[in-house]
Amino acid sequence: IPVEPFDLVIFGGTGDLARRKILPGLFRRFCAGQMPAGARIIGAARGDIGQQGYQDMIRGAINEFGAPSAESLVHLDAFIAQLHYVAIDICGDGGWGELAKLIRKDLVNAYYFSVAPSLFGDIAARLNSWDIATPEARIVVEKPFGRDLQSAKALNKVLSQQFDESQIYRIDHYLGKETVQNLMAVRFGNLLFEPLWNAQYIDHIQITVAETVGVGGRGAYYDKSGAMRDMVQNHLMQLLCLIAMEPPSHFDPDAVRDEKLKVIRSLAPVAAHHVVRGQYDATATTASYRTDAENPRSFTESYVAIKAHIENWRWAGVPFYLRTGKKLKARTSEIAIVFKKLPHSIFEKSADEKQNVLAIQLQPNEGMTLDVTIKEPGPGGMRLVHVPLDMTFADALGDHSEDTPDAYERLIMDVIRGDQTLFMRGDEVEAAWKWTDPIIEAWEARNDVPKLYDVGSAGPEDAMALIHRDGRRWREVK
Ligand code: NAD
Repeated sequence: IPVEPFDLVIFGGTGDLARRKILPGLFRRFCAGQMPAGARIIGAARGDIGQQGYQDMIRGAINEFGAPSAESLVHLDAFIAQLHYVAIDICGDGGWGELAKLIRKDLVNAYYFSVAPSLFGDIAARLNSWDIATPEARIVVEKPFGRDLQSAKALNKVLSQQFDESQIYRIDHYLGKETVQNLMAVRFGNLLFEPLWNAQYIDHIQITVAETVGVGGRGAYYDKSGAMRDMVQNHLMQLLCLIAMEPPSHFDPDAVRDEKLKVIRSLAPVAAHHVVRGQYDATATTASYRTDAENPRSFTESYVAIKAHIENWRWAGVPFYLRTGKKLKARTSEIAIVFKKLPHSIFEKSADEKQNVLAIQLQPNEGMTLDVTIKEPGPGGMRLVHVPLDMTFADALGDHSEDTPDAYERLIMDVIRGDQTLFMRGDEVEAAWKWTDPIIEAWEARNDVPKLYDVGSAGPEDAMALIHRDGRRWREVK
């Protein structure tokens, strides 16, 4: 279904994010027939490259990063024709008058701030002082949203001076993933799971976001951030919220975000011995984190594991084990809900050691499996086996991979539709920093040295010990 016609301005429209993600994503929506003919995308950035120059740049970017199919390429000229360009000086006057003339105020207006956060305030103020943004205009901001509570509050303040919270879309692309939304559908669209979704039946939960890439290329940026700020405060905490939240009364933006906020506020402060930070070490053939980050004395973590607790009735005593890291064995993102052991077994001991696990994979393939115990087929007597019930969507629903939007494109279309459900609200972001800040401050106060781990491993030994101490194991990273 096409969205309404719109004018979308991408500040930083020539930058890496715009070329690699935003524009190839919009092109796929165009091919899927979702972008109406009257829509315009206006790149606004430094440099007088002109409309033709911009169109050529984006044509190249779509070919390079968008992996377009042969069928989609027939649409490329028509898409490119909808692109405009304004050379703009975000902190000065240049280009704003031209932008003001270009914007059609009778259409949906959206402004994507794909630039450094230090420029958010300037853009927001000029959109209003040049009388560009309409009262319903939407603004989209990228991570990182601050580097601690104080800076996040400052960013929220500069944005809220110009725009209402209902106009601000803070992107966390993890929330745009099909499976993440399906998690809500599974929880709240079935009777089956919700009665079991609590401390009585769930033993623990694991959230893993493992990457094989290092920090090569963006080492200088990453070194000031680290895994806690770059991954835990946003992506992992958002996933945790969706698993742990109470059922909202409606599937509407504020009802969902109110429940997520309650989860964050219920997180217990984390004890120092419940956090492990790591940094990848060199091997014979690969460089260390410190080499990649070009900082030989860096104490920044490229890995974090945390044992977290939510202090409410539903989750009392249920640990949430979170871990994320770079240069690990495999690229995988997974949420695993591990149910308790049987209270009593009528079968031979060995079989009932296995617990039911609902595993939700976000990467590399999206899908869900539920590990269950069944009888091994055949005449061998009552022998039990543990097998995954595969709920991979492609099998059940047919392969829709061609028209399944990726996270960015889905979220951009939600902006145009005016649906904030999958975007973080200002108070959520602040609450998340409030939880992570003391952990980071404690590391800084004692000059904590991250534990080294080998490139291609599952992470530092101490992270294994963190869960082994509780008589549990991490799920294999594969
Ligand atoms: P980039 O450096 O590649 O691009 C910056 C863009 O901003 C360019 O188009 C540049 O012309 C424009 N710009 C900068 N200063 C300007 C000024 N004063 N006036 C006008 N235009 C100006 O950056 P990027 O990698 O595309 O990142 C953009 C934002 O998105 C950053 O906040 C970054 O943290 C965030 N982000 C990037 C990625 C990614 O994969 N690149 C992922 C997540 C978040």
